[in-house]
Amino acid sequence: MKKTRPKTPPAWQRCAWCDKRIDPEAEVFGCGARTIPGIDLSAKEGEALPLYLALSHRTVPALVVPRDSQAKREGNDLYFLICSESCGRVLKEALERDKEAFGIMSLN
Ligand SMILES: [Zn+2]
Repeated sequence: MKKTRPKTPPAWQRCAWCDKRIDPEAEVFGCGARTIPGIDLSAKEGEALPLYLALSHRTVPALVVPRDSQAKREGNDLYFLICSESCGRVLKEALERDKEAFGIMSLN
């Protein structure tokens, strides 16, 4: 696992699908996902993991949801930030297609 370089802008400031910069002031859309039990991501909380979607031939940044966050309480382990509803739809379809490849069980 690579360490995030401090100079790199956080991955969650960009759309996970189209890589467009997301204005922190703008309304943001998100898509949460759950990992299969047994995958311990606690050491990676708050970091973005590059998730390779083999069937879509692209890598999307998955933010590891911190334990005490609202997203976690809603049952998410991973979170994808997206710029628009249409990106969310396409991303979700891609994740559904590839979910067996990386162990995500259900998309919320
Ligand atoms: Zn987008």
